[in-house]
Amino acid sequence: MALIVQKFGGTSVANPQKIKAVAERVMGYRRKGHRMVVVLSAMAGETNRFVELANQMQAIPDPREMDVLLATGEQATVALFAMAVKEAGLDAISLLGDQVKITTDRMHTKARIKQIDAALINRHLDAGKIVVVAGFQGVSEDGDLTTLGRGGSDTTAVALAAALKADECEIYTDVEGVYTTDPNICSTARKIDRISYDEMLELASLGAKVLDIRSVGFAKRYKVPVHVRSTFTETEGTWVVEEDKEMESNPVSGVTCSKNEARITIARVPDVPGTASRVFNPITSQGIVVDMIIQNTSIEGHTDLTFTVPKGDLKKTLAIVEPVAADIGAERVLSQENIAKVSVVGVGMKNNAGVAARMFEAMAAENINILMISTSEIKISCVIEDKYGELAVRVLHDAFGLDMPPPKKK
Ligand code: ASP
Ligand code: MG
Repeated sequence: MALIVQKFGGTSVANPQKIKAVAERVMGYRRKGHRMVVVLSAMAGETNRFVELANQMQAIPDPREMDVLLATGEQATVALFAMAVKEAGLDAISLLGDQVKITTDRMHTKARIKQIDAALINRHLDAGKIVVVAGFQGVSEDGDLTTLGRGGSDTTAVALAAALKADECEIYTDVEGVYTTDPNICSTARKIDRISYDEMLELASLGAKVLDIRSVGFAKRYKVPVHVRSTFTETEGTWVVEEDKEMESNPVSGVTCSKNEARITIARVPDVPGTASRVFNPITSQGIVVDMIIQNTSIEGHTDLTFTVPKGDLKKTLAIVEPVAADIGAERVLSQENIAKVSVVGVGMKNNAGVAARMFEAMAAENINILMISTSEIKISCVIEDKYGELAVRVLHDAFGLDMPPPKKK
């Protein structure tokens, strides 16, 4: 008998039939004697619908009221789910974030979980009930409803699994797991059986949407094994777990492509102390996330400074950078939106020399020009022209042999 936390996303509970089907699946586990905690998202599309409604009321909807509104989506699914279980003859109870005491900070619409009280859930589990917890919501110290930011139900599930010391945390979704790359781009993309927390963090930050990145951070901190799998099949999905020797045998586990960034170059910046800080302080203090930064060796006292920001923040960033560039005596500011960032990720790179060389060679063979390069311990990213993004993904997926399953250890 195990304590299992299972989270079902919006597409898994999109209508009454689907809610019943998911309830059947959970009851299957309960009938085998497992202690079951279920975390649900709002029905697919609901949260978006609420955001649109709010936008019709106020130009910038009040964050506290926004949370009161958004939290109703999950409130509906947990109640419906509990009804479906009772109709089938088992016992269930729905609980909201404030009932469980999922305590968060006061940052409305992007609150962080601070503490979870396991007592109430444990009492209901002891009584044999399936406990159905509303995802994505909590309660602040002053008793206000809060929500955890879009996609936050994953974090609710992992945090609950940590607090309850669950044996497993399963995240059910509409795909079979985490893939070596986007199957819509590359037909030989393969489901990954096991991946480390750090690799998953990189993949999530590079745009793999299957798991919300904050939930992965939680899972890593509390060592919660997370099983990402499909609601609509019985097949094993992907286990997100601690790194082990076997994972290190492959230099690369996944390839990603993100087209969400734009690049800015400040040309001929005078090479004097304090310049970088004068450029980046005003950008980051506006909450704009700067990703890659490259500064060249200076020639004749001048250097070029190039960096990337989210495409949606390009205009705002240029408005900040242009006056600063003039102030520090730079020659001009250039920007480019038609870029893509392709990345290869793998813990095995730590002990495999030549991964970068192989990546560059594969791109060169297709005549893809590399505009920027950045590396970390387990990731290499190249910025290229966006029209080559999909081609680069396929070429790299091939070059690192990701279409073939990794050799099993004897
Ligand atoms: N319903 C929320 C959203 O759509 C939370 C979630 O589904 O994880 O973002
Ligand atoms: Mg999600």
